[in-house]
Amino acid sequence: MKIDVDRIPKEGLKISRDFDFPSLELVEEGVVFLQPAHADVAVGTIGEEVRVKGRVTARLSSVCSRCLAPFEFPVDSRFDLVFLPEELHGLKDELGEEDLDQLFYRGREIDIREVILEQLNLTFPAKPLCSEGCGGICAVCGQIRRDSHCACLAPVPEGRLSQLKNLLKDKR
Ligand SMILES: [Zn+2]
Ligand SMILES: [Zn+2]
Repeated sequence: MKIDVDRIPKEGLKISRDFDFPSLELVEEGVVFLQPAHADVAVGTIGEEVRVKGRVTARLSSVCSRCLAPFEFPVDSRFDLVFLPEELHGLKDELGEEDLDQLFYRGREIDIREVILEQLNLTFPAKPLCSEGCGGICAVCGQIRRDSHCACLAPVPEGRLSQLKNLLKDKR
């Protein structure tokens, strides 16, 4: 879905639609779309700068990095991006360190589909978890240790725990 930068009206453009990406286009392996992503985007220009601001929502299924169980991963991400024409790309060396992430548009157009896909890819955590408390798979019984701990988890003997607590207290 390419937008001709020279045809963006003064008052800007509003886009509200579903994007049906093949799950294969996601960088994260094992992530699958449960329904198409939806995006509401406002595109405006300030001179040669193009501002793309909006929100993308999606329902995805991811795989827990600890217990390997699939779980639903909802995405609701807002973004506010500024693109400069690629002619300015040569000036990159003169831009400060903070500007290294500067985005550029090429051939007088911006592919909104690519922008949305990029935003989706940015939302994935490095280690997706089905729940904060996921304890992974028990090496002894093979059960998923999620909310309840399996019986194999040996409790720390009381004596050792209080010794440890005293040790930590002394260090303060
Ligand atoms: Zn898990
Ligand atoms: Zn177990």
